[in-house]
Amino acid sequence: MRTFPPFVLFLALLTTPLFAQKKTVALPATPGVSAATVERVVRALAADDMEGRASGKPGSTKAANFLAAEFQRIGLEPLPGLSDFNQSFPAYEARTAAAFVSLNGSNLSPDKFVLISGQPHLNWTEADEPAARTFTIGPKDNLLKEIRPLLDPRENTIVFIDPAQEATFKRVAGLVKRGGLRAEKPAPFTTLLVLAPAPVPPLRFQVAATTTIRTVELRNIVGVLPGQDADRAKEQVLFSAHYDHLGLLPAVAGDSIANGADDDASGTTAVVALAEYFKKQNNNARTLVFVAFAAEEIGGYGARYFSSQLDARQVVAMFNIEMIGKQAKFGPNTAFITGFDKSDFGSLLQANAKGTVFHFEADPYPEQNLFYRSDNATLARLGVPAHTISTDQIPTDKRYHSVDDEVESLDLANMTAVITAIGRSAAGIISGQQTPTRIAPETARQ
Ligand SMILES: [Zn+2]
Repeated sequence: MRTFPPFVLFLALLTTPLFAQKKTVALPATPGVSAATVERVVRALAADDMEGRASGKPGSTKAANFLAAEFQRIGLEPLPGLSDFNQSFPAYEARTAAAFVSLNGSNLSPDKFVLISGQPHLNWTEADEPAARTFTIGPKDNLLKEIRPLLDPRENTIVFIDPAQEATFKRVAGLVKRGGLRAEKPAPFTTLLVLAPAPVPPLRFQVAATTTIRTVELRNIVGVLPGQDADRAKEQVLFSAHYDHLGLLPAVAGDSIANGADDDASGTTAVVALAEYFKKQNNNARTLVFVAFAAEEIGGYGARYFSSQLDARQVVAMFNIEMIGKQAKFGPNTAFITGFDKSDFGSLLQANAKGTVFHFEADPYPEQNLFYRSDNATLARLGVPAHTISTDQIPTDKRYHSVDDEVESLDLANMTAVITAIGRSAAGIISGQQTPTRIAPETARQ
């Protein structure tokens, strides 16, 4: 689950739920998912030796290899067109080292500017064409909101920031210094942020810097159980979760590893356990696709690449699973579904779980915007009934995105019950008896 920057505005979605009569499909009296698999997989993914599974770091490669081996063990097939379970795609990291920045003849001290560039060798002055766009940010302006688009420069820009904004400026400087992966190759443009009032014109400046752009290969892990009904096999049902997490964080009591046991080793474990479960069932009419996404936490790049490689019209449902390791606010044997009213996916699952001890509920935290904070949103924008199933009490979850998100805090028995309920309640969709309504793409935009 991603944290949205504070400047993302929450837009209430004024959709009207239209619940038609639901055909209830009797749940098969089959055994549930393997509790042993659940425990083994979640412990492996959340172990310290995975180092928090940060995108582009050795820990996430280790996790990817582990997941591919699980798909192999279970007997899944690669996605058509791929030779194995790896769906690779590039991400980019740009690091800019400024040699110097001078304004109207005087050099700026390094704590007074931030330089973001996609130009390997930058030698930039006021004489260069096209002229740099310059503007100022006042003491009361929303600095983060204003400069957000400039962090991925698409033109040459110089921004003068009022010194009253120093605290926020320092946060931005820290973020830029830490670097990070982006989905697109940086364009050959530069943003210069200066913590100072705009000088009296005419502006003269000189900026020299070198930027190193590194390409990093990321991998979704994708496995397929082909549909057994000739007419239905072209229709796909997705089961997904993201296996990446935050990596290392500032140490707390000597622990710096953000293990991400709940976020989202738990959901990734569900994908593996469900693959094993459905393989044993051996009766899926529709094709089942199991995906462990890369790079969710840093912007959802894995889901974006995955969705660019498929025909969304053939995807009849997406079960995205995020943070199911702890009990939901509704108690044990419950889970909630984000974007509940955007399709009838949730009410189908609710109806299918009737008569069992398990209940699916609508997302109780609409103000948290969870529908948009995970990989389902990418597919939903393409019209797929794509929802996230979760149990996390996110408004009060102190372990969320901390070094304390460890296996010891999970309720593995409840987690196994959640995964089993997903597997059983998906029966009607997998058999082709139920097809959730599509999400109107305009309601899937934020
Ligand atoms: Zn997260």
